[in-house]
Amino acid sequence: MDFSWSAEEEAFREEIRDFLKAELPAGWNDTLVLDKEDDEYIKLAKEFTQKLGAKGWFTAHWPEEYGGLNWPFWQHFIMNEEMSTADAPIIGGNGPKFLGPTIIHYGSDEQKEQFLPGIAKGEDLWVQGYSEPNSGSDLASLQTRAEEDGDEWVINGQKIWSSYGHYADWCFMLARTDPDAPKHRGISYFLLDMKTPGITVRPLINIAGTKGFNEIFFENVRVPKDALLGEKNRGWYMATTTLSYERTAIEAPARAQRILNDLVRYAKLTKRNGQTLAEDPAVRQRLAQLAIEIDVSRCLSYRVATSQARDDIPGPEAPANKVFTSEMIQRIAQVGMQMMGLYGQLEFNTKWAPLKGKIERLYLTSVSGTIAGGTSEIQRNIIAERGLGLPR
Ligand SMILES: Cc1cc2nc3c(=O)[nH]c(=O)nc-3n(C[C@H](O)[C@H](O)[C@H](O)COP(=O)(O)OP(=O)(O)OC[C@H]3O[C@@H](n4cnc5c(N)ncnc54)[C@H](O)[C@@H]3O)c2cc1C
Repeated sequence: MDFSWSAEEEAFREEIRDFLKAELPAGWNDTLVLDKEDDEYIKLAKEFTQKLGAKGWFTAHWPEEYGGLNWPFWQHFIMNEEMSTADAPIIGGNGPKFLGPTIIHYGSDEQKEQFLPGIAKGEDLWVQGYSEPNSGSDLASLQTRAEEDGDEWVINGQKIWSSYGHYADWCFMLARTDPDAPKHRGISYFLLDMKTPGITVRPLINIAGTKGFNEIFFENVRVPKDALLGEKNRGWYMATTTLSYERTAIEAPARAQRILNDLVRYAKLTKRNGQTLAEDPAVRQRLAQLAIEIDVSRCLSYRVATSQARDDIPGPEAPANKVFTSEMIQRIAQVGMQMMGLYGQLEFNTKWAPLKGKIERLYLTSVSGTIAGGTSEIQRNIIAERGLGLPR
């Protein structure tokens, strides 16, 4: 199998690299490492994302009629690889990646006209309101209710773990619209304005001590009838389409490679007991093992990209990729911490922290990678049932 890129694709990759060189601040991700929750990072990420939007690059793989450039999926893949390699400050990635394709599949013409341009330009930030305090893996048991009242829906309930909810302009959410129907058949999908009265967002502090996600409370929230996406009580089936796109993780190998490159550099420069870490056989073997795993994850992500390039909704190859890459990132963080020893505990971005504390931060935040977007156990269940045809 020949995995090399054509001359044209390589030239395109260079174009993206030139763009990144011109647009990213000096020392980005090297001497300048920002906390992704800092106001400075969010401001920069909004500006950078809107620059992508202005070029049409944020949604380049979408059809032109919806604000895309109709790029072949592979071109979009190369761009994602380069953005991840550079750790480009992008915000609102759920719009192009999984909400937009869902609206393109199921939305009315009016909804496409209303919502897709804001996503494509990188102007509107969306939060995903699926999980509830008692409904995560068993998402279809969700209890937030939406009831019809004249020309409106009235929504009551609570969501939790809602990433970036404290910045979001809009929410795509699930609510129960028929409490008497079997649980999967009584759910509908809504698109609503976060400024609607009755919505309260309360940030939660994550393991790294930052505001990653939120609780969202809905108290008699009135939204217009056309906030409903697709058919009433068919929300579950649309939600699973969104999740299939969400779990694709095609950019993860490039991100992992960037972190491995940092660790290799660190190993070459750091001396312990009279020799560099790079000369220590135990360190070399661990780093070599990670390099092999990243190659495996690249192959898995090519499989997902191949199905997306055919315009298919990704099948069980997406959860396979998600499980492997999220667990691999945890292993990379563990190896990094072992290499740094006690220095690994120095906090992110503090003076003496090796690699500016990027590994310390990764060690903490990667814990959630095997929970967010569906746990590893749930992904393995999906692979067993839909991929291998095993019984439920
Ligand atoms: C960083 C982060 C960001 C998130 N962002 C969002 C967001 O933006 N929007 C949103 O809606 N949600 C979000 N979530 C929520 C996420 O989707 C849920 O946490 C996840 O689906 C698990 O649900 P739960 O936390 O209720 O755990 P539970 O479902 O209670 O699971 C507890 C444990 O039981 C296991 N388990 C449960 N059922 C089974 C089963 N059938 N077979 C085997 N094992 C099982 C699970 O694997 C897990 O280990 C986020 C979560 C995290 C960590």
